[in-house]
Amino acid sequence: MPLKDYEDKREFKSTSEPKGSRKDSGLPEKAGKLIFVVQKHHATRLHYDFRLELNGVLISWAVPKGPALDPANKRLAVMVEDHPLEYKDFSGTIPKGNYGAGSVEVWDEGTYHFPGAINRQDTVNMMEDGLKKGHITVILKGNRLNGEFAFVRLKKGKINDWLLIKKNDQSAISGWDINEADMSQA
Ligand code: MN
Repeated sequence: MPLKDYEDKREFKSTSEPKGSRKDSGLPEKAGKLIFVVQKHHATRLHYDFRLELNGVLISWAVPKGPALDPANKRLAVMVEDHPLEYKDFSGTIPKGNYGAGSVEVWDEGTYHFPGAINRQDTVNMMEDGLKKGHITVILKGNRLNGEFAFVRLKKGKINDWLLIKKNDQSAISGWDINEADMSQA
């Protein structure tokens, strides 16, 4: 059942995180786009949660060092439980004693699609296929993140370990540093 892991980990009486309706975002079918969001999460350890919409949920990875615009900086991305689509708008503080306690802010948001996708179903099919194969290539249109990124599941290590890699395209920035980017845009 989708979102069971998500719901099992949380007490909705004591966290304001959404339970979720399992509806999709309703972006225009023909555009072939779905939404993405990256949230900065000041939990016990600061990390960035990278989420891609699929079938009414957000496929999610925790990226300890955050995404990079420098293709040389491959980032570990640990797949975590699917989140409800409504989580894309969540910012606030998860109270102490709850799973993931700490503050959450939306760091970037926008749309994603697969290269060559002609409609939403195409994107959905490619995403499902990519998750099985352990290789996902998406084009992002966000405020901070743009262009092509790949998620590649690591063959060694833990089953949920992936790498997030920026492609060397027009939106790549050599030497880009997430901490400097955060300070200049804060
Ligand atoms: Mn998190």
